[in-house]
Amino acid sequence: MDKNKGIGLCMCRMCPSFVDCKEEIAFCLASTGKSICILEEKGCLCPACPVLEAEGFSHVFYCTRGSETDQLASR
Ligand code: SF4
Ligand code: SF4
Repeated sequence: MDKNKGIGLCMCRMCPSFVDCKEEIAFCLASTGKSICILEEKGCLCPACPVLEAEGFSHVFYCTRGSETDQLASR
């Protein structure tokens, strides 16, 4: 998915774990990856996100654990 489209659909800003440090969101995408400022996992909205469904992704907490590609690689 196009990155800007992913950022537009991303639900991270509504998430209890979200910390706004003006970085790019859609952490699940390989071109974004982990957050530099979200450190605590307080819940994750990714399972309800249209980007996750459209991409066929299967992980959560992309902000703290890395993109789908990163998490697949670290299994
Ligand atoms: S799956 Fe999660 S990180 Fe990816 S766009 Fe949706 S809410 Fe954001
Ligand atoms: S990746 Fe998941 S936990 Fe992190 S901010 Fe987005 S919805 Fe919340």
